[in-house]
Amino acid sequence: MNTDSIKIFAPATVANVSCGFDVLGFCLDTIGDEMVIRKTSQKGIFISKIEGYDLPFEAEKNVAGVSALALLKDAQLDHGFELEIYKNIKPGSGVGSSAASAVGSVFGMNELLGRPYNKTQLTNFAMKGEALASKCEHADNIAPAIFGGFTLVKSVAPLEILQLPTPKDLFAVIIHPQIEIKTAEARAILPKNIALQDAITQWSNVGSLVHALHTNDYELLSKSLIDVVVEPFRSQLIPHFDAVRQSALGHGALGCGISGSGPSIFSLCFGNENAQSVAKAIKNIYFETGISFEVYVSKINTEGIKIL
Ligand code: ADP
Repeated sequence: MNTDSIKIFAPATVANVSCGFDVLGFCLDTIGDEMVIRKTSQKGIFISKIEGYDLPFEAEKNVAGVSALALLKDAQLDHGFELEIYKNIKPGSGVGSSAASAVGSVFGMNELLGRPYNKTQLTNFAMKGEALASKCEHADNIAPAIFGGFTLVKSVAPLEILQLPTPKDLFAVIIHPQIEIKTAEARAILPKNIALQDAITQWSNVGSLVHALHTNDYELLSKSLIDVVVEPFRSQLIPHFDAVRQSALGHGALGCGISGSGPSIFSLCFGNENAQSVAKAIKNIYFETGISFEVYVSKINTEGIKIL
């Protein structure tokens, strides 16, 4: 193996999992970017290739570059790194496009350096990159990309990530309507205060969702995948959200909600067969709308980011 160069797969992720707004995320398997990270004798971070989408080459303007620079500053090295980014995840799709890049560079660099940093430290560097895209440091897409499976961001400062178990028959269906929702708009629509009764419902659902993941209780999981705080507001920004949700649940999905800040919608299903039939039903809803879309079916990726 060439120890000066590495190729990695940086997975897409779902954040804001229903009642777990800003804290709960999970990692996808079949959707993701690829990156090549190479040591250079010159100091600094150089992005030499970007394929798939039009993104900035300047390290300071690309999330992969910003997280890489954060690691570089900490490591005090006498050399630098070159990055090639092969993007498959459309920026702004709601499945962690920026997080995949932010994580990809620092994961690859850490491998080439002989793993001086642990996963939580890598999450911290990647959050610096993510802050470029979303103007604030958050880890709800980064943590599942690095740790795999389901993760809960217990706290950002100090950073504390909990790795939750993933029931083995869990599959995700993602529909990505090809429309743009500005993250700022999706934030602005949220209420500043919530009613105590809604808060009680929400934290009861988060607690029971975590319990369901620990006990492989798919029925409890289904009853817990409900968001009474954010979804009622944000779903207005996503065309035909209610029809998609109703159809997914009608075809046996365990739950359905907004992925990240949208426009993607995720459904969680028991087994691949059910996921395929939910995917078909959702496609049928969107075919009739005339809006272009992509649908993906993926097992939950318990491994997270990996070397190819
Ligand atoms: P997502 O949830 O898909 O990451 P965001 O809106 O949070 O969407 O981030 C996308 C924004 O980040 C876009 O404005 C994009 O130009 C910017 N960006 C900078 N570098 C990258 C990168 N390497 N990958 C994806 N987006 C990037």
